[in-house]
Amino acid sequence: MRVGNRVIGAQAPVTVGWENIPRVEGGPVRQFIFTWFQPVMLFALLAFWYYAPNSIAKASTAIGIGIGFKVLLLGLEWVNPRYASWRLTWKELATDLFYVGIGLTVVRLAGNYIGSDAMAEALQDAFHWDKLSWFTGLPILLQAFLIAFIFDFGQYWMHRGMHNWYPLWLPHSVHHYITQLNINKGAVGNPVELFLIGLGIGGFFDFLPRALLLAGSFGLAIGVYQHINVRFNSPRWWRFLFNTTEHHSLHHSQDFESTRSNYAGSFIFIDRMFGTCVDGEAELLGMEGGRRMSIREQMTHPFTEGWKTLKERFGGPAAVPAE
Ligand SMILES: [Zn+2]
Ligand SMILES: [Zn+2]
Repeated sequence: MRVGNRVIGAQAPVTVGWENIPRVEGGPVRQFIFTWFQPVMLFALLAFWYYAPNSIAKASTAIGIGIGFKVLLLGLEWVNPRYASWRLTWKELATDLFYVGIGLTVVRLAGNYIGSDAMAEALQDAFHWDKLSWFTGLPILLQAFLIAFIFDFGQYWMHRGMHNWYPLWLPHSVHHYITQLNINKGAVGNPVELFLIGLGIGGFFDFLPRALLLAGSFGLAIGVYQHINVRFNSPRWWRFLFNTTEHHSLHHSQDFESTRSNYAGSFIFIDRMFGTCVDGEAELLGMEGGRRMSIREQMTHPFTEGWKTLKERFGGPAAVPAE
């Protein structure tokens, strides 16, 4: 299996355990802000969507909040970066914006088309909505948590599958070539992967909008910290329940064993349930010792790599490279 024998830089260092992770430096105000920012934002978002009148509880508001939140986080990256080596460069920013742009246009259009219309119809045929009244009768916050949990549970197994099955690894591998984390890095990857992950999200959009907006708040206010360059003193309970930059930096580490951990998007307790959680962090990220990929290679890599493997496997002895 190709996944198993990727060339990785010799024993890239990783930090395991919370005890060895640096704390936020500075005075009490700074300590307070970078300890409580994450929980306060989560509860603020949940409260907003819980109490917002119907006239503003809609997708356009959600998109506006999402963008505003990310701009705020971009500011925090500037004020309190985790690693100087992860600082944005113009080159990184240009790549990130390219993918954020794709995410907002092409992938979303395709996802809406397939996800929303076809899926919604299929779902409507498959279920009669009144059968779900047991669900819609639950408290709205519980519905929201269950939607977020079920979604993340699916993401967990999809992501774990990507790391264990070569045809899924090919499109996902591109995301693992990133060499730093920042607020836009969640968008960087081969579009095939982004499309696969985006698929189906839209299918639920007509269904339980309020619970869905609340579920989205869980995703936004927790999952967003996977890719960010900010040092937080996240409270211990937060780190126990939720995926953090620390966890996800290990997942992106140059150390192969560390990448086989922390698959969840939001709820790291899913990894704890299945024994794939490793607490800790890493600074040196990427594949092949941190080789940076151009946008062109990010676009073509799954196909050229897959073609190469096919040729090696079926192309006869002449095509096997002498290694
Ligand atoms: Zn991964
Ligand atoms: Zn990632």
